[in-house]
Amino acid sequence: MTEPQVSPLEPMPDDWRRALAVVAHPDDLEYGCSAAIAAWTDGGREVTYVLATRGEAGIDTLDPARCGPLREQEQQASAAVVGVSTVEFLNHQDGVIEYGVPLRRDIAAAIRRHRPELVITLNHRDTWGGVAWNTPDHVAVGRATLDAAGDAGNRWIFPELAAQGLQPWNGVRWVAVAGSSTPTHAVDATPGLERAIHSLLEHRTYIEVLTDEDPETYVRTFLTGTAQSLSPRFDGKPAVAFELFAR
Ligand SMILES: [Zn+2]
Repeated sequence: MTEPQVSPLEPMPDDWRRALAVVAHPDDLEYGCSAAIAAWTDGGREVTYVLATRGEAGIDTLDPARCGPLREQEQQASAAVVGVSTVEFLNHQDGVIEYGVPLRRDIAAAIRRHRPELVITLNHRDTWGGVAWNTPDHVAVGRATLDAAGDAGNRWIFPELAAQGLQPWNGVRWVAVAGSSTPTHAVDATPGLERAIHSLLEHRTYIEVLTDEDPETYVRTFLTGTAQSLSPRFDGKPAVAFELFAR
């Protein structure tokens, strides 16, 4: 029997200065791609986070009114661990984010505000690969982010944003989708992995209801395992993988 062929992952482009990561919930970035973010901010690059919600519907035993502010605080702390100081929230409702023009407008506004060359988001497809169903919030935000990268550059789409002082920004060169089951590019996870572990650990409230395991053991096993699983496709190095859409 022959081994299945695995295609190598290309190194992510590194000729850029500013990135904007747009995801649905607190912890979406920490479950896999914050090792790459730590390496980027170490290299002097600026990364900003935009979250559609505060993840207020994420914990069964905690009322959304209490959960939202708590998870917002945990998200700020986890961003700081990997060198990200700006975290914004778009105030959509957790669990029922709707894909559509208002969401595209909010993300296009964020892109015009921050003028990134690289935009990062999370898997926008129906599944995580195979039959592992994705959540509607991830699908909506991922898709709207891919669309908004174009919307942000067109002065005739959302002219009300220009009236608010947000001029078109057509400088997004790539949208990188994390958590894709068909990745194309990767970043060496080694230098940022330890901080990625501590960054995810800041979501303590969520992790403590998710598992009975010791939080640090759980987080370390999960993130190390994910990064290691990609090493056969990236020169033997543990990796954070992205599906890269060039514009
Ligand atoms: Zn999520």
